[in-house]
Amino acid sequence: MCTFFGIFARSHQETALKTKQWGIIGAATIARQYMIRAINAQPDGRVAAIMSRSPERARAFAAAHQIPRSYHRVEDIVGDADLDAIYICTTNERHYSETLAAAGAGKHVLCEKPLALSLQDAHAMAKACRDAGVVMGTNHHLRNAATHRTLMRMIQSGTIGKPLAARVFHAVSLPEHLRTWRINDPATGAGVVLDITVHDTDTLRFLLQDEVETVTAMTAQTGLGSGIIEDAVMGVMQFRGGVMAQFHDAFTVAHAGTGLEIHGTEGSLVATGVMTQAPVGEIRLRQAGRVHPVALDSAPEDLYTHAVRCFHRAMENCGSPAATAEDGIRSLAVGLAVLKAAQAGTHITVSYA
Ligand code: NDP
Repeated sequence: MCTFFGIFARSHQETALKTKQWGIIGAATIARQYMIRAINAQPDGRVAAIMSRSPERARAFAAAHQIPRSYHRVEDIVGDADLDAIYICTTNERHYSETLAAAGAGKHVLCEKPLALSLQDAHAMAKACRDAGVVMGTNHHLRNAATHRTLMRMIQSGTIGKPLAARVFHAVSLPEHLRTWRINDPATGAGVVLDITVHDTDTLRFLLQDEVETVTAMTAQTGLGSGIIEDAVMGVMQFRGGVMAQFHDAFTVAHAGTGLEIHGTEGSLVATGVMTQAPVGEIRLRQAGRVHPVALDSAPEDLYTHAVRCFHRAMENCGSPAATAEDGIRSLAVGLAVLKAAQAGTHITVSYA
């Protein structure tokens, strides 16, 4: 238990010291490049099992990353009695059934974004975790960055007055090794909107502490998307508090760099290089005709390590995941509304139900 003034400090310390054993569902790039390290970086965290549909890939992945146990069936990994939590990083259409299985087995769940392909499924995932009494988080990484946390604090403390407008530059070149299901398999929830726009949404929601009300957008195929799959999108989200946020996301733009700007009545915050997986980027404050570099509130830290630390605290009942299941539902709702708006060629009021 966790509470103020250290009343339960001893029992909290005992809980905190117990190693949390993680199982990973999906022998995926994000696990290999970031999440295994982020889990094993916790003093109380260890990746203990991996599951891939392919037994050979599971064994090879386990061997490559010193993971003690490997499985090739979901029921076996979630049935592993020594595991406390499951991280789900499969293609998007699998998140729903795998989350239900993990929750049903009493495991805490950290699920990749987009949570699911429909809002109905995403709500059912959150409910299954609630009913099972386990923590569910969404792996939206950007709100963990020291840059975005600093921006949030400045915006919320009024540094730029009332926020009026925002712009997000998140058009990148999809790495060669990821040019698979994201651009050629519609059954997976492919395309740039569910891949990147959901991250923009989560970041803007976090910075503005506000919800998107209406969206409009156009999508395009600019060289990678096949069939009906979009690889570029530009659009506008209007927040309930009135902020208009413009966004540009793409898989085909190699040299733009990323960035985010928030413009308020008393100043503008301009952050460059911040829409990335690495703890990098810088912030400038434009105010009264001057440009001031902004010092970060905390030292840059790996975004995923920060996310897992928050998740561990939530498992101990001492906080909530950096991004909750509800955050994942909300970013998915906006992503789906963006796709609908682009298809219909009109404004769409976001439905969160
Ligand atoms: P990958 O394409 O690397 O892997 C996705 C799934 O494909 C794996 O879980 C694996 O499942 C299967 N797979 C892996 N290698 C092969 C192969 N050689 N042949 C056939 N199947 C294979 O996906 P990503 O890591 O890019 O993305 C996984 C999830 O994470 C997605 O939901 C994505 O949206 C999300 N993501 C989130 C990021 C973030 O920062 N939060 C960043 C990147 C991705 P199995 O082993 O069971 O077959």
